[in-house]
Amino acid sequence: MSRLESFIRRLTAQRDILDQVCAEVAKIEGPILELGLGNGRTFHHLRERLPGRRIVAFDRALAAHASSIPEAENLVLGEIRETASRFIGIEAALVHADIGTGYEDRDAVTSTWLPDLTARLLRVGGLAVSGTPLDHPLLLRLPLPPSVPADRYFVCRRV
Ligand code: SAM
Repeated sequence: MSRLESFIRRLTAQRDILDQVCAEVAKIEGPILELGLGNGRTFHHLRERLPGRRIVAFDRALAAHASSIPEAENLVLGEIRETASRFIGIEAALVHADIGTGYEDRDAVTSTWLPDLTARLLRVGGLAVSGTPLDHPLLLRLPLPPSVPADRYFVCRRV
């Protein structure tokens, strides 16, 4: 598969998964945490799907399109491992993590800290969506929408 095809599949999967979880997240109290603001496309999608909900976005640096920049109080810059740790206890309804790099060795390092951090950020019953695995005893893996190939995306519920 070409990188272009792989990219298209990733974005389609993101959209389908976010649409699926947003219907449920709408009924769960708590803020949304967007780990990896990037260009802001998924932030923009979440903002449209969950109007009025607080969305806190994290990244090393601001590089988002002007239409997709959170309010200053909801933008947190720095290394996510450190910055998001300060939000433990926030009882998020949804953590969306899009910080995979496509490099196995780098993503393996992310997998050493992201699952535990995600579990600590979520309220019980809250949902996590991630492009890298979320193996953790408190994160129950949920089925993906039929359009999404297995092991490209991970959806979990905090138990
Ligand atoms: N979901 C975004 C969108 O739709 O535009 C794209 C996110 S992009 C693939 C990943 C972003 O995560 C990059 O902007 C990168 O700087 C950020 N990132 C990755 N790992 C990070 C880390 N450990 N700490 C802070 N930012 C990180």
